[in-house]
Amino acid sequence: MDDFADIEAAARHLPQPSIQELLRLRREAENSPPPLTTVPAPVHQRGGILRYHCPLACGWTHDENPGTELPGSLLLPADFTSADLSDALTSMAEVRHNNYRLRIEQAIADHFAERHPGR
Ligand SMILES: [Zn+2]
Repeated sequence: MDDFADIEAAARHLPQPSIQELLRLRREAENSPPPLTTVPAPVHQRGGILRYHCPLACGWTHDENPGTELPGSLLLPADFTSADLSDALTSMAEVRHNNYRLRIEQAIADHFAERHPGR
């Protein structure tokens, strides 16, 4: 007996949900608000702007323009190697990404405190 046959045999002994139960679960999923995520997916705008909408769809938005961010300084030893350069670039990208994410999270947190207290 292969693994799939074992699984199929085991599944036959599980309680099967009725079609009414499946339809009820589908209606519940369709009518429930979207899950709150820390940072929702942005909507791309003209000019490289990324627009973040309120996860509760109240109409609030926050715009970011990643193209206008300064890259920051690159710190390298005098006798740097290509590995040092790679590490420094990776570190710089991580710092920029974390700062970007923190800025958006803070904007959403400020918005929730103002418009959706208690959520
Ligand atoms: Zn909102």
